[in-house]
Amino acid sequence: MSSLESKVAKILKRYPYDITFEIKDKIVFLYGNVEKYEEWVEIGLRIGKIKGVDGVVNKIKWRGFPEDRFKEKEERRKKLFEKNRGKVIGEYDVIIIGGGIIGTAIARELSRYDIKIALLEKASDIATGASKANNGMIHPGVAPPRNTLKRKLNIRGNAMYDKWAEELGFKFKRVGSLWLITPRTLVRYKKYLPGPLYKVVLKYIFPWVVKFKGMRNGVKGIKILQDKEIFRLEPYVTKDTLAAVYVPSTGIVDPYEVTIALAENAKENGVEIHLRTEVVGFLKEKNAIKGVVTNKGVFLCKYVVNAAGVYADEIAELAGAREYTIHPRKGVELMFHKDTGELIHHCLSELVFPSHPTSKGGGLNPTIHGNVMWGPTAVEVPDKEDTSVKREEIEFVLKRYSTIIPNFPREQMIRYFAGVRAPTFTEDFIIRPAKWVKNFLHVAGIQSPGLASAPAIAEYAIEKLKAMGLELKENPRFNPRRSPIPTTAEMSIEELDKRIMENPKWGNIVCTCELVSEAEIIEAINRGAYTLDAIKRRTRAGMGTCQGSYCTLKIAEILSRELGVPLNDILKEEAKLFNGPVRGEAP
Ligand SMILES: Cc1cc2nc3c(=O)[nH]c(=O)nc-3n(C[C@H](O)[C@H](O)[C@H](O)COP(=O)(O)OP(=O)(O)OC[C@H]3O[C@@H](n4cnc5c(N)ncnc54)[C@H](O)[C@@H]3O)c2cc1C
Repeated sequence: MSSLESKVAKILKRYPYDITFEIKDKIVFLYGNVEKYEEWVEIGLRIGKIKGVDGVVNKIKWRGFPEDRFKEKEERRKKLFEKNRGKVIGEYDVIIIGGGIIGTAIARELSRYDIKIALLEKASDIATGASKANNGMIHPGVAPPRNTLKRKLNIRGNAMYDKWAEELGFKFKRVGSLWLITPRTLVRYKKYLPGPLYKVVLKYIFPWVVKFKGMRNGVKGIKILQDKEIFRLEPYVTKDTLAAVYVPSTGIVDPYEVTIALAENAKENGVEIHLRTEVVGFLKEKNAIKGVVTNKGVFLCKYVVNAAGVYADEIAELAGAREYTIHPRKGVELMFHKDTGELIHHCLSELVFPSHPTSKGGGLNPTIHGNVMWGPTAVEVPDKEDTSVKREEIEFVLKRYSTIIPNFPREQMIRYFAGVRAPTFTEDFIIRPAKWVKNFLHVAGIQSPGLASAPAIAEYAIEKLKAMGLELKENPRFNPRRSPIPTTAEMSIEELDKRIMENPKWGNIVCTCELVSEAEIIEAINRGAYTLDAIKRRTRAGMGTCQGSYCTLKIAEILSRELGVPLNDILKEEAKLFNGPVRGEAP
C-alpha cells in the first residue's frame, strides 16, 4: 500500500461503512454508501486535506440520494447529444463553457489574440450563477491559507481591479475593510486568559496576529486602529470594540455589472457568445476533444475551458476528465434600503475565533450602489440549484451580524437572496490541464474569492492554455475599452436636459425607485438583454424599495414592443413572467 493509500484507508476506517476507494494519478475516487449527507461532505473534506491529493471524486451515496433525478438528467443529456452530434455550428480555437465572471474574464482576456473563440452559456443571460448572487467584495487576500492558488490569485486579482474598472467602465471603489475585535472575538479562549489579561490580548496582541497573517500573505497597508480612530471611521459600530484591523485594499463592485462588461467587451473584440446553449457532451478522438456538443449543435474546437461553476464536475465527467466533485455551499444575503448606506463606510466584520472553517466570516458590506448587505451564510446543500431562503436563515443572519452595528434599522430590509458556491474537496481553485484529456483546461472550484481573483484567474488560465500548446498572436484590433449604459440617476440636470431634447425617452422614468428611464431600458435591449432580469442587472430597474412592484409591467411592455413578441411570452429569467392570461387578454 502506498503512503497515500494508507492515509486514505486510515480516514475511512473511522466510519462504520463499507467505503472503497481507488487512486489514479493522485485523484481519489470514493465509492459506497453513508447514512447522512453531512458524512458525505465530511469524508470528502477529510480526504481532500491529505497532502498530495490533487482531487476527490466522491461517488459515495447518502440515504435519500436523488438517484432518479440524476438518471433523468443523464437521459435528457444523452437524447440531446444524439440529436445534435451531427449538426456542426462552426470551428473554433477555444470553446469556453460557462458565462459567469470566470468564463467571461477568460473570454475577454483571450480576445486580445487573433483566434476564434466561442463562449457557451446554458442560461438566457450571462451572470446567472454564483456571479449574480454574491457580496461583490474584492477581498484583499488576508483570508486564504498560505501556499494556495486562491491566495496567490486573490492578491494579484485585487491589484488588477483598478485597470479593469477603468477600461471596462464599471464602478469600483476601494472602501477598505474594518475588522472589529471585541470581547466576543476570543471568548472560547477566555478561560485561559484570566482577569485583565483577556483585554490586553484582545487590544494589543491579537490585532498584531491578524496583521502579521495579512502581511505574510502579501497584503499591503494593513493598520491597527484603537479607540477614537475606529469610531471616527465608523461612528455606529459597537462600542464594545477594543481594537480594529484596517485593510485598505478591499474593494466593492456590482458583480453582474463586471461580468456583463467583460462579456460586452469580449463580444466587441470578436468572441461569439451563445446563450441558451447547453453543453451535453463531447466528441472525442483518442484522448482529445474534437467538438463540444450542445442542444444547438456541435462546436468543433482545438481547446476547451471548463468554467461551468457548480456544474464543472459534471462537465468534466462528460469529457472523461472527472478529477473532482463539487459540494455546493449556499450563502444567504440580506439587502437593505439605500437609506442605511450612511451607516457604514467600510466592509465590516467582527472577528470571532475559531473562525468558520469554510467561510471568510461575512459581515456588513456597503454595496457600490449605496445599499448595505448583510451576510453571507455558508451551508452545505445537496442541491446545486438550492437558492431558497428560509425564515430561519434570515433570522440567523440578522442574529449573527447584529453585534456589529447594534442599532441598525433592520426593518429596512428590502430583499434577501442566496447564491451557491462551487468548492471542491481540496478547497483550492483547480486551474490545470486535465490529466487524461489532452486539450481540456479545468477552471473549477472557483469559490470565494473567485470574483476578487477573476482578473488573475483569466491571466493564469491563459498561461496554462499556452503551455498546453495554444498559439497566441496578438489581435491588432483589440480594444480594451467598453462604455457603460449612461444612467439617468447619475446625470447632471444639464446633461439629462440635453438628452431629453434629443430623445424624450430619457425623460420617461420607468423605475422611480432607482430613477431608470425608458432610454436606458432600450439601450439594455439593444445590447442583448431580452428578459426582465437581464434588464434589471443592466439598468437596476426593479432593484429599489418597491422591488419592481410598480415597474415590472411597464418594462415587460417595453420588452414586448422592442422585441416584437407578445407580452405573454416575456420571460423573467428562464420562466415566463405571466403564467395565465395577461390583463385584458382573452384566457
Ligand atoms: C453567497 C456568495 C457570496 C460570495 N461573495 C464573494 C465575494 O464577496 N467576493 C468574491 O471574490 N467572491 C465571492 N463569492 C464567490 C464568487 O461569486 C464565485 O467565485 C464566482 O462567481 C464564480 O464564478 P464562475 O464563473 O466560476 O461561476 P458561475 O457564475 O456560477 O458561472 C458558471 C456558469 O456556467 C454555466 N453552465 C453550467 N453548466 C453549463 C452547461 N452544461 N452548458 C453551458 N453553461 C453551463 C452556468 O449557467 C453559469 O452561468 C461568493 C459566492 C457566493 C455564493
